[in-house]
Formats: sequence, structure tokens, C-alpha cells
Amino acid sequence: MKNLGEQAIVIGASIGGLLAARVLSDFYTTVTVLERDAFPATDIARKGVPQGRHTHGLLARGSQVIEQFFPGFCDEVVEQSGGLRGDVANDVIWIGRNVTLAAGKSDLIGLLASRPVLEGHLRRRLLKLPNVRVVEHCVVRGLASDLARRRVTGVCMRVEGGPEETAYADLIVDATGRGSSSAVWLEELGYPPPAIEKVEIGIGYMSRTYRRRPADLDGKLGIIVAGSEPDWRNGAMLAQESDTWIVSTGGFLGDEAADDDQGFLAYLATLPTRAIHDVVANAEPLGDFRRYRYACSLRRRYEKLARFPANFLVFGDAICSFNPVYGQGMTVAAQEATALYHCLEHAGSNDLARRFFKAAAKIVDIPWDIAVGNDLRNPRVEGARPPMLRFINWYIGKLHLAAMHDSTLSTAFLKVVNLMVPPPSLLSPAIAWRVWCGARKSNSGVANIDACRERRVT
Ligand SMILES: Cc1cc2nc3c(=O)[nH]c(=O)nc-3n(C[C@H](O)[C@H](O)[C@H](O)COP(=O)(O)OP(=O)(O)OC[C@H]3O[C@@H](n4cnc5c(N)ncnc54)[C@H](O)[C@@H]3O)c2cc1C
Repeated sequence: MKNLGEQAIVIGASIGGLLAARVLSDFYTTVTVLERDAFPATDIARKGVPQGRHTHGLLARGSQVIEQFFPGFCDEVVEQSGGLRGDVANDVIWIGRNVTLAAGKSDLIGLLASRPVLEGHLRRRLLKLPNVRVVEHCVVRGLASDLARRRVTGVCMRVEGGPEETAYADLIVDATGRGSSSAVWLEELGYPPPAIEKVEIGIGYMSRTYRRRPADLDGKLGIIVAGSEPDWRNGAMLAQESDTWIVSTGGFLGDEAADDDQGFLAYLATLPTRAIHDVVANAEPLGDFRRYRYACSLRRRYEKLARFPANFLVFGDAICSFNPVYGQGMTVAAQEATALYHCLEHAGSNDLARRFFKAAAKIVDIPWDIAVGNDLRNPRVEGARPPMLRFINWYIGKLHLAAMHDSTLSTAFLKVVNLMVPPPSLLSPAIAWRVWCGARKSNSGVANIDACRERRVT
């Protein structure tokens, strides 16, 4: 492996930062991760990652990529922390467009564990590497540069109780998440900020954990309900370590569940299946209700900037954060880590920002189109709906109808949702033929919803 320098700095020790640091450990003598939080002694949610208290699913692609960087990672989460492995197409119930997709065995293997457990295992694995260290309680406030302001040379930071100081490095990566200050830091150095794309969705999450009993949900490991007409309400219930369920529900543009038992159950009862409601109604709650408000999907177009300083990158949610309902963020961070690895391996740090942002943009394009494209079906969400988007949404609707009775189609769709294959795979002649024939047979999804409603899970 080439050595590209003495020191690399990653700002932020969440999933994105940990994966970026893993990649950099192969190319720099020392990698230092600066994190404003302190890490909890056990794997519980922390202040800097408030989403950690809400449902997190790691898509099949995400677990596959993380496994490449940390071999044995999934086994560790299962064996040491009680995470669960499951066939995404067979062990999880998927409801979209108000229909239940037919279950069927697949090779889409996902990993179920709470967000703090996933992050804790990643961090411990990373810190086993001899050339990586983490500084806790360390807030980064800006960038240092050379006199000509062409190169970033370090970060201005402060460790709690200490003075403001500059830490120098050959490469600095901002993985501070959606609230990243990189645009401001760049402006301070005389660079233009990236253009921003936003889609206002006003998603309100309300989440709580419950004791999971083996017979719940007929032994399945989870259920995902993607919001659709008329209410556009989402719901997710996933098995986690320690025999628990994490349940999250919420709608668009301010439509939220109440944070009390009665209100939460009433809201769950409005989903197109009563399955989550029925489990929750009989389950022992294990914690408080937690709320999270997510205003908009947000994409910063760093790849379009004509000027950008050398030795500096932005990574993970700091580039793009998607409607969390689609569960893509951690997987996209993992894919960006792979892209960063290839960029460094191929041409080192030479012209790195341009090459990395171009590769990251290609990665982000697909989940962005999936998330935004689907959100724009909701007539209250504002945004352009070109004819191609309307065609795709129409086609995916037909695919759902056909996939009620066709697990080959469900799996093909879930492969796309799990970012294993690109969306055009759903337009192949073989799939299009099954969609055409299947959708004609299924006269409507309504029968299927009713079947869901009649289903009682004890
Ligand atoms: C409600 C919700 C549910 C989600 N569900 C899923 C899901 O099911 N599946 C999925 O894959 N993704 C999901 N996501 C997205 C996922 O959480 C993120 O994509 C993932 O955490 C990667 O983000 P990140 O590491 O880039 O940033 P973050 O997780 O936001 O972490 C940023 C880190 O930087 C630190 N930091 C910030 N500023 C500074 C500073 N100035 N100095 C030092 N440190 C700093 C923070 O303390 C934090 O540790 C969800 C998100 C939300 C909001």
C-alpha cells in the first residue's frame, strides 16, 4: 500500500467518520479522528447522534461493504451484542403502495442491531488498528490553510478545558454529518459554497422500544411500511439485540404521532396494516417515546464546484442526507468509503477532491433519486415532476401490484432498494414482462390491504 503522508484527520466519529478513517489508515502513517462527544461506556445513544434513538436498518449492501473493511464485523455484532441476521426479502415484511410484497428466499442478508451497537462495534474495530486514535470532547471550529489558501493544512480545534489550537495534517475529511460547517469554513478561505438541493418533507419520527416475544409478527424480524395515499404515513418495526423491537412511525409535512400510549397506538392503527399496532398494543414498553424532526432531504453539490482547496474532503451525511425512511445513509457512507479507497489507491492525493466528489456524486445519485422520486408521489411535497419521474413512479406502482404474488419481482425490487443493483435493472425485458402480466392479474391492491388488516399478530 502506498504511503501518502504522515497524518490524516477525520472530523466526526460516527458511521461516516469511522469508515473514512478505516480507509485512510491504509494510506497515512497516523489517522486521528476528532469527535466533540465522549463515547459512552456501553453502546447507548449519544448527544452528537440524536438519530441513534430511532429505527436504523443496515441495508444488505451496507453490511456487505462494512464486512469488506472489517472482516467478521457482522458475526461480532451477532455473537457479542445479540444482533440478528435476516433475509431482507423473507424475514422482513415490506408494504409499499398499500400492498404487501410477496416474501421469498433471497441472498439479501441484512444485519439488525440498534444504531449505537453498530457504531460501537465499528469504533472498537477501528481503534484496534495501531495507527488510528480518537480524540473525544474535541470540537473543530474551522480550517487552517497555506498562505495562498490553495491547500488546507489543518483544523482549528479545541479539546474541552484546553486552549484553541491547530492540528496539522496531510488530508482532512469532514464527516460531521448533516449539520456540517464546511460551506462556511470554505467561504472563510475565499471559496464559494456548494450549491444546495433541498426537498422539504417535514418527516416526524416518533419511536419507542418494546420487549420482543418470539411469536410476535409470526416470527418475522421486521416490517417496513412506506407511506402512501391517502395518509402517507410510514411505520417501521425492527428486531434488535436483547429481544427488543424498535418501532418508529410518522408522516409528512408535520404529520406526527403523539408521544403517549393512546395517541401512538391510534396513529399506528392508521397504517395500511395493523401488524405493528397489534404487536405494540400487547408489548411491554422499554423506554420513553423519542421524537425526531427531519425537515428536508439535503444534497450539497461539491462535485460542481470549480474551485476547491487541496487536501480536504467532505464525506457521508455532510454531502447528502436522505429522507431516513429509506434507510440509506449508513450504506451510502460505506459506498463512499469504497470510492475513497479506489481514489487513493489509483492516483493518491493528486486532484483527490475532484475525483472523490465525482465518484461520491455517482453513488449518491441513485439513493437520492429513489428517495426524492418516491417522496414526490406525495402531492404535498414540492418539487419538479418531469415525465420520466412520472413514468417511473407509475411503473413501480404496477411492479408493486404484480409483486403481491411474485417473490421474484419483490426480490428484484428489494435488490434496488438495498442498493445492490441500479434501478434500471427493473426495466429489463424479463422483469418488465413479469410486471406486465402480474399487474394485469392483480386487479387492485385493496384486497391485499384488507388481508393485512385481517391478520392478527399475537
Ligand atoms: C431519524 C433517522 C433515522 C435514520 N435511519 C437510518 C437507517 O435506518 N439506515 C441508515 O443507513 N441510515 C439511517 N439514517 C442516516 C444515518 O444515521 C446516517 O447516514 C449515518 O449516521 C452517517 O452519518 P455521518 O456519520 O455522515 O454523520 P452523523 O451520524 O450525523 O455524525 C456526525 C458526527 O460528527 C460529530 N461532530 C459534528 N460536528 C462536529 C465538530 N464540529 N467537531 C467534532 N465533531 C463533530 C458528531 O458528534 C457526530 O459524531 C437515519 C437518520 C435519521 C435522522
